[in-house]
Amino acid sequence: MIPYANVAQLRSGLDNGEFSAEELAYFYLSRIEAATDLNCFITVDQEGVIAAAKNADKAIAKKNVGPLTGIPIAHKDLFCTKGLLTSCASHMLNNFIAPYDATVVDRLRKAGAVTLGKTNMDEFAMGSSNETSFYGAVKNPWDRTRVPGGSSGGSAAAVAAGLAAACTGSDTGGSIRQPASFCGVTGLKPTYGRVSRYGMIAFASSLDQGGPLASTASDAGTILNAIEGYDPNDSTSAIAEATDCHSVSPALKIGIPSQYWNDLSSSLTKVLEEARLTLESLGHQFVPVELPHTNAATAAYYVIAGAEASTNLSRYDGVRYGHRAASAESLENLYQVSRSEGFGSEVKRRILTGTYALSVGYYEAYYLKAQQIRRLIRQDFLDAFLEADVILTPVAPSTAFKRNELIEDPIVMYQQDIYTTPASLAGLPALSLPCGFSGQMPVGMQLIGPHFGEASLLNLGREYQNETDWHVRHPESGDD
Ligand code: GLN
Repeated sequence: MIPYANVAQLRSGLDNGEFSAEELAYFYLSRIEAATDLNCFITVDQEGVIAAAKNADKAIAKKNVGPLTGIPIAHKDLFCTKGLLTSCASHMLNNFIAPYDATVVDRLRKAGAVTLGKTNMDEFAMGSSNETSFYGAVKNPWDRTRVPGGSSGGSAAAVAAGLAAACTGSDTGGSIRQPASFCGVTGLKPTYGRVSRYGMIAFASSLDQGGPLASTASDAGTILNAIEGYDPNDSTSAIAEATDCHSVSPALKIGIPSQYWNDLSSSLTKVLEEARLTLESLGHQFVPVELPHTNAATAAYYVIAGAEASTNLSRYDGVRYGHRAASAESLENLYQVSRSEGFGSEVKRRILTGTYALSVGYYEAYYLKAQQIRRLIRQDFLDAFLEADVILTPVAPSTAFKRNELIEDPIVMYQQDIYTTPASLAGLPALSLPCGFSGQMPVGMQLIGPHFGEASLLNLGREYQNETDWHVRHPESGDD
């Protein structure tokens, strides 16, 4: 079996009888075992994997096969998985066995995918470096001294290191796209409402969206097709046509917003310029667009996301589920001690600032103002999409930084999200694609589409990947 095979390659290997789903499952389990130093996984479901793989083999024998039958995947540890730990990488939930499957998990199981386990992440998905996890930092497989990005860092690093064919992640302000960029994989944040949030532990409910991290745009489309679609269990789930992400991309007008290039290093600018030339050579036309409120996006995002987090996380009170203090003097003291012990410092910071932004006397100055900015940013994009079919930008201002480099300075860490938060606030789909290297480290580009425009992004991404080989470069691991 070849390491780093993508979903499409594994599909043909399974269908042609080159290997069974069970053999494939053992192969991935052994790769995970050999790469424990990366710390990509919080839970590996040994027994469940083999049982699911055997079922997949039965389905394959009966020729009852879907695109994902027998494909080994892993879920970010904020998707509830029945009978398996769902910790959100927090001490608060390190005893939480979910009683049901998230819709994303359920749909992938029904599609025949084999769940290898649960991937590491920033605690409650708050962070850009995967260093806030209660289970320890994840290492970037391209350079183990560097972060994999966050918060879906375990998922991105697992795909990059060939420990799963694809993974799920979640993106509230960049958490699929930025780790995809840092690890040299393909990540899609779908349109808000495209993918059900049911059973996905909430961070900021008006922004949270699940999506795939995979080796190719084509694989990301295959996963999206399995998880997308209306779900009555999510009140903001959209009724939308399935994404037609396996058709030929028409010639597109690609917008370049001037506001996205100011803080970019010259080596990243050069890589993105080459990506632009490649897309041009494929017949796409570039047009300038303006997104004038871009520089207010990150501030607005941190006010809104913090405010929503402060209310969402109020449910962790030590009474119903999650960590409970061993002893307490009163009910109020039980809440205090359980929450003080259960949450890490970044989560506490978000709860404190979010509560402040919502409190009487400050609500208008912070939360309401941030909502007004959000509206302006959304309008900027709607105007830009009158001129352009999709928009090309960087994903992050740098490649993966070193562990411990930014973690002591939350403001600098938050500024990592300047290129990803605008599309989040506007609820737009955005794809992160590998497009080159700066030194040893991968660089990603971001393609942002109009609402429910995933097909344009994925078809363009596939066309780009047919032309380039950035997505098939792999970190050295001694096995290739
Ligand atoms: N880095 C951002 C934050 O810390 C985004 C996180 C996310 O998208 N879940 O909030």
